[in-house]
Parts: sequence; structure tokens; C-alpha cells
Amino acid sequence: MKKAIGIILVLATVIACCFAFAACNKETTGIEDGVLNVATNCYFEPFEYLDESGNPTGIDMDIAAALAKELGLTCKIKDMAFDSVVGSVASGQQDIAMAGLTVTNERKQSVDFTQTYFSSSQVVIAKNGSAILDVVAASDSEEDINSAIASIEAALKGKRIGVQNGTTGYAYVSGDSDDYEGIGATAVGYESGVLAVQALKNGTVDYVIIDAVPASKLVAAIEGIAASTVVLTGEDYAFAVKKGNTELLNKINKAMDKLIADGTIETIFSKYGLSSGLGE
Ligand code: GLN
Repeated sequence: MKKAIGIILVLATVIACCFAFAACNKETTGIEDGVLNVATNCYFEPFEYLDESGNPTGIDMDIAAALAKELGLTCKIKDMAFDSVVGSVASGQQDIAMAGLTVTNERKQSVDFTQTYFSSSQVVIAKNGSAILDVVAASDSEEDINSAIASIEAALKGKRIGVQNGTTGYAYVSGDSDDYEGIGATAVGYESGVLAVQALKNGTVDYVIIDAVPASKLVAAIEGIAASTVVLTGEDYAFAVKKGNTELLNKINKAMDKLIADGTIETIFSKYGLSSGLGE
């Protein structure tokens, strides 16, 4: 009897190990089951947002579909809070983050980034008539741009700034371990840019700071607010995979090379009224 139990235990262990190995195997390449699991946050128009029927759409979503097609995979989008996106990929729950995600040194500690595909910046959104909107760079020279940034940062000091949780906008305001010193203002976190803008309109925060292109969409859609033309940061968007998953990273980079070369990426950007800048 004891011997039989022993054999059963050994068998059970072997079976458990096989499952563990299979699970690990999925984690290292992320694509064995034929599904590219994409982590995003659908409140970042035009990169990802929900269409009238509630389906994820936008530049990143179109690129996700094109990448999956190129790799012979089915694309499955998981809409989640933005501050869970990087963690879900770092933990292996999702294969790839596609979320207008800025490359940062802090994030590089837990994920690996693909090649970059868009340049972005943080900008201020303020109520119409706010003096901060009068600050403009006198020219494109570095000196004039830096002096405009200094004026904006002086105006932001000590103020309450609405930002989206987990974003570089948040880090720019409050500082982080690697990339941003902070600007001596209070970051007030919201689940989305729209909620941050509502807080601006009802006076809970003094300004909102968010990426420039989503800022332009917000000010076009919501009355009574405008975006500053002064670009406060220099950022690049890329997709992120689990740290060490070089197989998936290389596949995505190779597929991106092809989609850039054959014009697919530029066609996607122009569908949303933008240029990727990748051909320049
Ligand atoms: N680009 C910003 C970041 O990576 C914001 C992204 C977003 O809100 N989807 O933090």
C-alpha cells in the first residue's frame, strides 16, 4: 500500500512538473497558444479608446492587429487600469503592453522595450483664459524652449496637478527613482485623462498634465479648456514585453521593421490624422 502511495506521489510530482514546465514555457515566449495577449488602457485617444460599440480601437490597437497577423497569432486585447499595464506584462499575465507607453529607465527594470514608434511630450491643460496658456516659446531654439519650460514650471510650483495614475505625467510632477526630479507640485492621480480634466473644470485641481496628442483630443472634445503649446518632456513610445523574453521581443521588432518598410504603420497613423515620424 505504502509503495502504491509512493508511486502515485512520484507520478503526481512528474505531472505537476510537466504542467509547471509548460506554464514556464508559455512565459518565456508568450505565444505558444497562438494568442498575442495585449495589455492596454482604453482611455488614451487616439492610441487606444473605445469605439461607439465599446470595442477597443486606435493606433496601438490597429498595430496590435497588424503585428498579430504578421506573426500568425490571434490578438486578444485586455483593457485595464493604466497603472496595471506594465505589471501585467512583467508578471507574465499578458504578453505585450501597447498603451502609448513611454520608454523609461524605471520601467526598464521590469520589462524590455521594443523599438520606439512615436515621439511624445507632456503638456499642460488649463482652463480657457489661464495665464499659463500665454507662455509660448519665442522660437524653436533650445534656449527659447528652455526658457518657456522654466516659466511654465515656475507657474506650476505648489499647485495641484491632475494626472493619470502610473503615467510619466505623474512622474514628471512628483518625481520618480530614475527619470524625473519632480517640479515641486502636488500630483493628484485619476484613472483617466477625462477624469483629470473633469477635476480641472470643477476646480479640484489647478491644471492637468498629460501626453500632447491625447491632450489635443481632450481639449477638442471638452469645452472651456485649452492645451499649452510648450512641450515639457521628450518621450518615446514603444511596446513592452516581459524582461528577458528576447524571443518575443525579436519577433515583434522584426515584424515592426516589415510593417514600417511596407507602409502599414504610416497608413495606420494617417488614419488617425497623425504621422509616425518613422519615415523621416
Ligand atoms: N505615455 C505616458 C506613459 O507612458 C502615458 C500613457 C497612457 O496614459 N496610456 O506613462
